Order: sequence, then C-alpha cells, then structure tokens
Amino acid sequence: MFEDNYKHRGLRNKLVKILQKKGISDPRILAAIGKVPRHLFFDNALLEHAYQDKAFPIGEGQTISQPYTVAFQTEKLAVRPGDRVLEIGTGSGYQACLLLELGATVFTIEYNRKLHESVRAFLPLIGYRPYFFYGDGSKGLPSKAPFDRILVTAGAPVVPAALTDQLSDGGILVIPVGDREKQKMVRIRKKGSQLIKEEFDNFAFVPLLGEEGWEDPGKS
Ligand code: SAM
Repeated sequence: MFEDNYKHRGLRNKLVKILQKKGISDPRILAAIGKVPRHLFFDNALLEHAYQDKAFPIGEGQTISQPYTVAFQTEKLAVRPGDRVLEIGTGSGYQACLLLELGATVFTIEYNRKLHESVRAFLPLIGYRPYFFYGDGSKGLPSKAPFDRILVTAGAPVVPAALTDQLSDGGILVIPVGDREKQKMVRIRKKGSQLIKEEFDNFAFVPLLGEEGWEDPGKS
C-alpha cells in the first residue's frame, strides 16, 4: 500500500543533491532526507511535486514546508541522539519523521484538530512514532517540559516566553519571528539564566496562531 521503490529513492537522492548545493551540509540531515519517503505525504497524482524543493498545500489551509526550509531549521537545531525535542506545528508530520531519524524523542503539537487526527493515524503506518498532542503550542507543552530542543514551524509575532522557559539548560529554540508575510529565522540558546540570540535568513511561514501567536480569525 505504501510503496517506496527505486524511482522514489532516485528522486530523493536528487533532492538531497539540490539541498547540498543550497548549503545544507550536515550528513545526518542529508541522510534523513534521503530516507524519509516524502511522496507518501502526497496524493498519488501529485507524486511529481513530492521531491521538488517547494512547499505544498496539505489541506486545512496548511502546508508541508519546503524541504530546504525543513533542512535549514533542522541544521540550526543541532539535534543529538536522545534529545527531547518539541515540534510546534505537526502539519504533515514530515519534519517529525526527520527528527525521529536523527534519534530524538519527539513531542509534536498541532493546533488544527483534523490535521492532528489524520497525521496521528498515518505516521505509525509508515513506521514513525512521535508523541502527538493537540492544542495551542504557542504556550509550549508544560506537562512534558523541559526540552533540549524546541522547533517552531509556523511564523510567530514574538518569541513566546513560555518556550524559552521550557528549554533545558544548554537547550536550543529555533523559531521564525516577524510579521504575517515574512519572518527571520531566530535561534536562541539557553545558558543558565542567559538567552543568547542569533538571527538568520528570511522565510515565509503560515502564522503561528493562539495565545502567544497571532489572533485566530476562526475564533471569536
Ligand atoms: N512541520 C510541518 C511539516 O513537516 O509538514 C509543517 C508545518 S506548517 C508550515 C505549520 C503548522 O503549524 C500548521 O499545521 C498549523 O496548523 C500549525 N500551527 C499554527 N499555530 C499553531 C499553534 N499555536 N500550535 C500548534 N500548531 C500550530
């Protein structure tokens, strides 16, 4: 039912080469991208889109992020095997699979109930088992904190204090911060009571909704 053949593997290897050319160099991340069957996150009819370096709609007005963006964020996150990683914005579940391939214990939270339910049912069928949560990840996931790494995959207006609070000492938060159209990738390292901030390139994510994010137009 979930076929992954030589043709898919060939397309994946091409994608890996494209990402290498764009500057992704961590061999573990490239190997993970070469392994996770991204085409299984797409309808059959859309196979040709699965291994292009672009974002794609996944329904519910949401997107599976562009592979380069996923790889860039993952590289900045510097995940080590055994790390407890919180992903905010499960979306399609693709990013969570990469984090699992890197040997992390993954907690992933999604705001959209339909997406949450469909991905929670689908990922185990292809062998990936993060811990799934439904809710407003702009407040983090206090019941499972602290985390070694926190990755936000939606654009935030500010860095929510709840997220830096839930980082362990030495922990890293990667989050796109800006306006609704464009955000700067921000990395924050926690060293004792100090937060060290770095800024990288601009990206365009769907908005992080919720209490510490943008107002949800669907909520009165
Ligand atoms: N990581 C995803 C992937 O691999 O496909 C891509 C995520 S998509 C760009 C952003 C996701 O963040 C959407 O599914 C959206 O519903 C979700 N989201 C937005 N606000 C959220 C919040 N406060 N808590 C959790 N998820 C949120």
